[in-house]
Amino acid sequence: MAKDLTKSLFGGELDDTADVSGQIVRVALDTGADSLFDYVLPEFMGAVEPGQRVQVPFGRANKLQPAFVVEVITDSEEIEKCKRFKLKAVKVILDELPLLDAQLMELAKWISQYYVCPLGQVFSAMVPAAVKKDAGVRKKAVVYLNCSTGFQPVIHGQDGRDTALRSKKQKKLVEILKDTKAFDADSAMDKSALLKAADCTESPLKQLARKRIVKLAKKEVLHALPVVPDGLSLETKTVVLNKDQQKALDFVCSEIEKNRFGVSVLHGVTDSGKTEVYIRAIERCIAAGKRAIVLLPEIALTAQTVQRFRNRFENLAILHSQLSGPQRNAQWQSINKGQADVVIGARSAIFAPVSDLGLIVIDEEHEGSYKQDTVPRYHGRDVAVKRAHIADAHCILGSATPSLETLHNCETKKHYTLLTLPKRVNDLPMPEMKLVNMLTAFADTEHKGVQLLSPHLREHLSKVLEKGEQAILLLNRRGYSNFIYCPSCRHSLTCRNCDVTLTFHKKPKLEGRKETTFGRHMIGGYAICHYCLAKTLVPQTCPLCSSRMTMIGLGSQRLEEELAKKLPKARVRRIDSDSMAGQDYYAVLREFAEGKIDILAGTQMLAKGLHFPNVTLVGIISADTALFLPDFRSNERTFQLISQVAGRAGRSEKGGTVYVQTFFATQPAIEFALRNDFSGFVAQEMEHRAACSLPPYWRMAIVAMRDPKFERLQTAANQMKERLEGVISAEKLDITMRGPQEPAISRIQRFHRLHFILQSPGVSHLQRLFERLRQMAPLRPTVQTQVDIDPIGVL
Ligand code: ADP
Ligand code: ZN
Ligand code: ZN
Repeated sequence: MAKDLTKSLFGGELDDTADVSGQIVRVALDTGADSLFDYVLPEFMGAVEPGQRVQVPFGRANKLQPAFVVEVITDSEEIEKCKRFKLKAVKVILDELPLLDAQLMELAKWISQYYVCPLGQVFSAMVPAAVKKDAGVRKKAVVYLNCSTGFQPVIHGQDGRDTALRSKKQKKLVEILKDTKAFDADSAMDKSALLKAADCTESPLKQLARKRIVKLAKKEVLHALPVVPDGLSLETKTVVLNKDQQKALDFVCSEIEKNRFGVSVLHGVTDSGKTEVYIRAIERCIAAGKRAIVLLPEIALTAQTVQRFRNRFENLAILHSQLSGPQRNAQWQSINKGQADVVIGARSAIFAPVSDLGLIVIDEEHEGSYKQDTVPRYHGRDVAVKRAHIADAHCILGSATPSLETLHNCETKKHYTLLTLPKRVNDLPMPEMKLVNMLTAFADTEHKGVQLLSPHLREHLSKVLEKGEQAILLLNRRGYSNFIYCPSCRHSLTCRNCDVTLTFHKKPKLEGRKETTFGRHMIGGYAICHYCLAKTLVPQTCPLCSSRMTMIGLGSQRLEEELAKKLPKARVRRIDSDSMAGQDYYAVLREFAEGKIDILAGTQMLAKGLHFPNVTLVGIISADTALFLPDFRSNERTFQLISQVAGRAGRSEKGGTVYVQTFFATQPAIEFALRNDFSGFVAQEMEHRAACSLPPYWRMAIVAMRDPKFERLQTAANQMKERLEGVISAEKLDITMRGPQEPAISRIQRFHRLHFILQSPGVSHLQRLFERLRQMAPLRPTVQTQVDIDPIGVL
């Protein structure tokens, strides 16, 4: 870990050659260095503001690097201190205007401090790469009439004769330019459009330019395709809010109008009309002259919710991972210009440059995907609350299954208010939940373990198909099989880089391709590591003892195959990140909405945000996938997943049924979910968390170290242990420490891993600990070390 930020006061970059006068600017570079650097801004460049980028020479080789201006030094004492060093000079100012305003700068500093991340890396995560690269900005040739050289509608050549009008084409060109009022660079006309309109080649235009009657110029324009395709939202009717919705909305609106910070937790069962409340709250926010940001889990974004927002808001900007660089840049620029009243996006949209922010909505606030798993390891929800705080804005956290952290905040923090929508809209009943115990579901004659569909579920599927209704099946595991092993010697296929078993992905049958590409002794497909993506062929027989290899642990590909066998008439589509690679997710959803698909089968991608009234059956093929992960949130995840997916069923008067297949029918998380008993589940789980000093009662941080060489890792980890213990005892911090210990997956991508798990009753002690550690010199030997504050898992 590197130095404290304040050390940079004395850490200016030395340079013997630079001797320029000007203001001193303090900048953050994206080099991983945990300090700021001072440079002189040569006077002739003009002024800069915090949030603008400059280019500076860095390091011994004076490599030019972009950097964000954090501060322009005005304090005379500090200036004197800086002058003791010969500072290097800024080379170029990169941005005309700041990319981050004062509030976002403040947010960045908070993230840097709270999540223990160098400020430069926070900045670089806040502004999309597409924006920094000017993605999609092209130079376009344009033409305008040259009024400045005295051009008036009467045209004279240089020799005084009326030459221009001699050519019909030239005359036409001039007329078109006059009609479109292309009189200067701003109003200039696109060159190719002009030539097309005049139906002529370039040469008459060039002659006009030579005679200085027109001017040719280049103009920067941003080209990007529109971001939302049409045709997914079937909604046009306006609804009348029910009593619970109205009550929730009234509260939120009164808070928005007070212009002060507060958090509403909107706990509403699936289909209780939460989104409708968000939309109306945003309408009120806009009416009050302010703007809003809406965060959704990534996958819900590519689906119907975006369409709904677009139907309701004219000035909407959208930011999600499927956008191309130019699209993202165009959306960001429109937000930055204040053209968007509402920004809807995934996690990083919380950094959208929205001014006059009045409301932030986090839908499905319990979702683990709001936590970023690379530096900076921030939680989108928690950053949203902080941003609302900075902006004196209101924040809505919505969910059918709020996280235990959020529920705990409702009980302990005064600016949190819990609002509930206990019923589905139109008084629709919750779907009927049916448990299928997979241990007893099959008759003795049937093969157990190999089958994914229980007889009960299969029968119900046939009925649904007969009635012309639709079904969604969830199997939260990609691929075909995730455990390939030899039954006689127990050899299993594991990744050579990671400490995990490989997942078998069957090769799709491609027409016109021979199957022989895999060789006679190989099974047709690849074993892929889901962590490092290493790929290998799979032998039919065990490399150690030559017995036949077996596959257990079944994935979504296998489900698709079983459906084809058991329900040959059903039109089935698989949706997961494999099958959707390069395919149009929208197109599949549209086909499903139009009834061209009977069964959608797939992974978690199906659990969120889908609203199809004709879906009367949902099957959770295995409720157990998350249950036995060695992680303290696995019960919570299991409960959330079952409720989430179940919510896709019965969204019309046709009603709905949910089958939950499990081998562990008496597990509390499953029992509670089946009874729809959220508060029962929460009460029990909270007790357990409290007893084990776990979040939300205690705070947690993980210090993760990794290195390809285990011995080096161990040496460094032991030193880290000494440091941690040293600070904890010197500062008398109330922190319990475990480690160094191997996490459940002890090696990933050839890196061995060792973790420290730190727990404390309050976050301030952890903050103090990391503040001290950041001031210390780096460990020797150096190994990669990461800090994860409020981790979402301990795997
Ligand atoms: P949630 O976000 O809680 O899942 P939505 O807001 O998406 O619920 O509402 C589900 C469906 O019910 C949507 O089609 C929505 O238009 C409709 N809806 C919402 N509120 C009402 C209401 N008060 N009366 C009738 N329909 C409603
Ligand atoms: Zn073997
Ligand atoms: Zn691997």
